[in-house]
Amino acid sequence: MGSERGAVVVGSGPNGLAAAVTLARAGVPVTVLEAADSIGGGTRTVELVSPGVLHDVCSAIHPMALATGFFGAFELTRRVSFAVPEASYANPLDGAAGTRAAIAYRDLERTADELGRDGAAYARLYRPLLRHLPGIVDFALGGSMLRWPRDLSAALVTALRTAEQGTPAWNLRFREAAAPALVSGVAAHSIGRMPNLATAAVGTVLGALGHASGWPVPIGGSRAISDALAADLIAHGGRIETDRRVTELGELDAFDVKLFDTSAQGLLRIAGRALPAAYRRGLERFRFGDGASKVDFVLDGPVPWRDPRVAAAPTVHLGGTRAETAAAERAVSRGRYPERPYVLLAQPTSFDPDRNAPGVNAVWSYTHVPRGSDRDVSATVIAQIERFAPGFRDRIVATRVTTAAQLAAYNPNYVGGDFSAGAVTMRQLLARPVFARDPWRTPAPGVYLCSSATPPGPGVHGLAGWYAARSALRHEYGLPAPELGAAGA
Ligand SMILES: Cc1cc2nc3c(=O)[nH]c(=O)nc-3n(C[C@H](O)[C@H](O)[C@H](O)COP(=O)(O)OP(=O)(O)OC[C@H]3O[C@@H](n4cnc5c(N)ncnc54)[C@H](O)[C@@H]3O)c2cc1C
Repeated sequence: MGSERGAVVVGSGPNGLAAAVTLARAGVPVTVLEAADSIGGGTRTVELVSPGVLHDVCSAIHPMALATGFFGAFELTRRVSFAVPEASYANPLDGAAGTRAAIAYRDLERTADELGRDGAAYARLYRPLLRHLPGIVDFALGGSMLRWPRDLSAALVTALRTAEQGTPAWNLRFREAAAPALVSGVAAHSIGRMPNLATAAVGTVLGALGHASGWPVPIGGSRAISDALAADLIAHGGRIETDRRVTELGELDAFDVKLFDTSAQGLLRIAGRALPAAYRRGLERFRFGDGASKVDFVLDGPVPWRDPRVAAAPTVHLGGTRAETAAAERAVSRGRYPERPYVLLAQPTSFDPDRNAPGVNAVWSYTHVPRGSDRDVSATVIAQIERFAPGFRDRIVATRVTTAAQLAAYNPNYVGGDFSAGAVTMRQLLARPVFARDPWRTPAPGVYLCSSATPPGPGVHGLAGWYAARSALRHEYGLPAPELGAAGA
């Protein structure tokens, strides 16, 4: 069934494109308007540091690409090739904690075997999560968090582990440094003080995926994902206009239905006058988190990890022990710059070498900084990498720093450099951006929010766009969700 009533999607991040594909597949005429000169939002890959060397500008590693509903329905793996390394992430250590890194393999038992005395306790933490993984993914990512879980035991297993790892009880099961460092390294992705229920919840899901479907690297870089979405959109009659920054709802009068892949603040700025006062106040209350500052490198070879096993992991968490990672995150939450920051390093070209020019190697990293920071933090980032990879500094051929303030200028969704488009707190996991059973549908007629400012929050999964588009199809067009598979492309 087709529709004459056209829809517009403002923003072409993975959520915007997922929404557009879903609408176009249902027969709705769709136009995507993107402020930047290229599509993709957080999924762009360009020659960022040196000619001939491809860096991901934002996202690099995709734990949610193989395991969650939208990309499963879209059959992403039939459209994009992924390398799925045996190791998902690593956490190097030093000093009294020993020089052996903690490594999370897709194989939980191998992970536990290499963790020494805490191996059995670590396996007991994750084994029930892996047994209930589909239910856990559905609970965490399957829609609004304000709903009764479909798989109660999965929800209970998640809640118990979140309660343990998100409170001062988090060290009770561990005796050494490696296992808790591995757990905290992944939880710290969500930026915030630790222990904390929200960071623990995020870490629980990302960690479980790391031991199951893995943390895949798209061949060609993250842009392969947005290119696949855009190709499908165009094949189904959709249009994309770049260099089109939308500032006023009036610019969209030609369209009956409007979906915003913007921050809550962006929606407020553009559509505020059409929104009821109570809803506007809800958006105003939605808080942004601290920022990220990116430091990208071109090296003349691989990273010289002290523990060579770290080379097997696409993502490396450089925070040291659990206590050190927590201290670094606490400092950032107080507006300070830690001397030994928590650094996330990705080495995707180890698994996709064609992105490199001959003789050089692209390395991607970022660290957490106070919101809005314009400080160049490359010196502390390099020192932290050097700590676990002696000789790293001597391998650097070129560096590019993107401060949190520059990240915000690059993408208006990343207010102050907060690329989650809203702090990941327990309250804001439940009320994203407001408490509502259908948080994608705003009270203004035909206006929807489809970005990571809605459930399930940050990450490249396309789910927020998919849920928003399905809500729009139901409410505006009386249409069911369409089939998305690659066979029908
Ligand atoms: C440094 C960094 C590293 C990351 N690493 C990872 C990772 O490894 N794995 C992962 O899963 N996630 C990662 N993320 C997070 C991930 O990129 C985001 O969560 C995801 O891209 C959000 O998708 P989105 O569609 O909601 O918004 P975005 O991808 O931010 O896209 C929004 C788009 O809307 C456009 N836009 C906004 N306002 C307007 C307007 N008024 N008019 C027109 N266009 C507008 C923007 O230009 C942008 O293109 C990372 C992010 C950053 C910044």
